[in-house]
Amino acid sequence: MNAQDCLQILRDVKDVTFATADEKGRPKARIIDVMLVEPGRLYFCTARGKDFYQELMANGYVAVTGMNREFQMVRLEGKSVKLPEQKKWIDQIFEENPVMNDVYPGDSRYILEPFCIDNGQIEFFDLGKSPIERYSFSLAKEPLREKGFLITDACIGCGKCGRNCPRKCIVPGEKTAYVIRQEHCLHCGLCAENCPVQAIIRRGEQK
Ligand code: SF4
Ligand code: SF4
Repeated sequence: MNAQDCLQILRDVKDVTFATADEKGRPKARIIDVMLVEPGRLYFCTARGKDFYQELMANGYVAVTGMNREFQMVRLEGKSVKLPEQKKWIDQIFEENPVMNDVYPGDSRYILEPFCIDNGQIEFFDLGKSPIERYSFSLAKEPLREKGFLITDACIGCGKCGRNCPRKCIVPGEKTAYVIRQEHCLHCGLCAENCPVQAIIRRGEQK
């Protein structure tokens, strides 16, 4: 599994959720088609009259989520950019997604504007496997933002977190008495809430 596999899952699902924030910061979500993917890039389009278009033009930030029939979920959070060469991209989108001709026949297609996401974070979460699997990837320049929890060297080795973890993904470690197997972790936080010495912290919060 890699970032490109994740983009392909979103393309295969095709009708996925795109979320933005409106001018008051309120979340807005809607189903949008993933029109194309290329190495490191995901393409979609929307019409200039839609609120979605206005929200994209305000700052470009968008969160995309889709899940396939195998319960593999992909989240992509990134910044979209409106593409130059509007007609070229819209024609290519219609060529590869001919059903669009039913929705926007003839030249009405050019009310649409093409957008691309080529920078952001991707999370893959496979709920169809036991244990569950999750991986994070970065698209282009975006540094990977680590999520979840980690066990620090404040751990006294009592073993409580491992006994209570719903996924049994806390195992003996080398540098610390226990470690979290990040690829199987739910990010539920139960271990951190119940550690008697607060040795479990959010990843990215360590000094
Ligand atoms: S509950 Fe806290 S102290 Fe006990 S093993 Fe887990 S991390 Fe270490
Ligand atoms: S966050 Fe939840 S799933 Fe992950 S290690 Fe802690 S208790 Fe287990």
